[in-house]
Amino acid sequence: MSVTEFRVRARRLREAPRLVVKVGSALLVDAKSGRLNRAWLESLAEDIASAKKRGQQVIVVSSGAIAMGRRHLGLPPNRLRLEESQAAAAVGQIRLAHAWQEVLAARDLAVAQVLLTLEDTEDRQRYLNARATLNTLLSLGAIPVINENDTVATAEIRYGDNDRLAARVAQMASAECLVLLSDIDGLYTADPGRDPKAHLVTEVSNITDDIVAMADGPLSDVGSGGMTTKIMAARIAVSAGCNLCIASGHRLNPLKAVEEGGPCTWFTASQTPLAVRKQWIAGTLKPRGKIFLDAGAANALAHGKSLLPAGVTRISGAFNRGDTVSLLYDGGEVARGLVAYSAVDAARIIGKKSSAIESILGYRGREELVHRDDLVMTVQSQGDGRG
Ligand code: GLU
Repeated sequence: MSVTEFRVRARRLREAPRLVVKVGSALLVDAKSGRLNRAWLESLAEDIASAKKRGQQVIVVSSGAIAMGRRHLGLPPNRLRLEESQAAAAVGQIRLAHAWQEVLAARDLAVAQVLLTLEDTEDRQRYLNARATLNTLLSLGAIPVINENDTVATAEIRYGDNDRLAARVAQMASAECLVLLSDIDGLYTADPGRDPKAHLVTEVSNITDDIVAMADGPLSDVGSGGMTTKIMAARIAVSAGCNLCIASGHRLNPLKAVEEGGPCTWFTASQTPLAVRKQWIAGTLKPRGKIFLDAGAANALAHGKSLLPAGVTRISGAFNRGDTVSLLYDGGEVARGLVAYSAVDAARIIGKKSSAIESILGYRGREELVHRDDLVMTVQSQGDGRG
C-alpha cells in the first residue's frame, strides 16, 4: 500500500466528524466463562477517548447483553428459546451498560444508554424522535451506547443482529464512518482456511454480485451476524454516505490498529451523508404542504440559512412534523425541506419571533421551522439579491 493510500484509509476513521463503532459479543464476553473481557474493553475505551479528544463524536453499538446475562441466570450454552434470550438480555444489558459506564467515566466521558427496536428506525415519527435524541446527546458530548431492546423485541419485529442495527444507526445519525469490530479481519476472496490463494479484500467501492458471493461462503457462520449481514450493513451504510470498515477486534486498541494501517476491509461511499439526505429530500414525489416565504426569508435561504417562523406569510396542506414541504416565494418553489412543526402548530407561530414559540405553543420546540440541514434549494438563484 502506498503512503497516500495509507493516509486516505486512516483519514476515513480519524477525520469522520461522526463515528459509529459496533462491538460484537464475542469480543466483549469470554465465551467459556461468560465474563467481560475488561482489559480489551479498557483499550477500546482508550481509542474512543482519543477520538473524542480529536473532536470526533462517537456512538457505540454494543452487543453482549444476552452473552453476559445467560451465565447469571444459569442458562445453558446452547441455543436459547426466544423468551430465554429476552430474559438473559434483561439481566445482561444492565451489566453491559454498567461496564461501558465504568470504562468511559474513568476517561471523563458521559455515557448514555439507548435501546432501540426495529420500529424506531422504520417508523418515520419514531425515527425522527430517536434521531433528535441522538443529535442532542452528541452535541452535549455524551457517548450513546446503543443496543437492540432485546427484552421486548420479538422474532418478527427485530433487527436480530447488531450489524444491521449499527448501519441503521449510522444512517439515522448521518455518520461518516462505521467500524464493525468482529472476529475476522474483513472480507476474504474465499475461505482462507481452505483456499491458500484466498486474500483479504481491502477496498470495496461497489458492492457487486461477486462481493456478495464472497461473503456467502463458510465464513458466514462466524459470530452472530456473519459476513452476509455485514455486507447488508455495508449496503445500508454506503447508500447513506457512510464509509464502513470491517476489522478484527481480536487485538487491543482495535481502532488505533485500523488507523495505523492494520488489516481491514473498507466499503467506501461515493457521497457524504448530508448530500444523500438532501437528495432524498429534493426527490420527494409529493410534498405534504406548502410554506410561503417573505422576501427576507427567501434571501436567507439562498444564503444557506435555516427558515424561521418569522419569515413565513402563509402555509397550506395538512402536514405533520418531519414531512417534506415545499417552500415558495413569488409564486414558485425555491426549496424543499423537512418541517419541524405540524401544520396546526406552524399556523400558530408563523410571522412570530422564535423566542415567542414556547409561550404560544406551550412547549419549547425548535427555533427553526425548517433547519438548514433539512433543507435543499430547488431553484438556486431565486431569492438572491431580494429583500
Ligand atoms: N443484541 C444482542 C445482545 O446484546 C446481540 C445481537 C448481535 O450480536 O448481533 O446480546
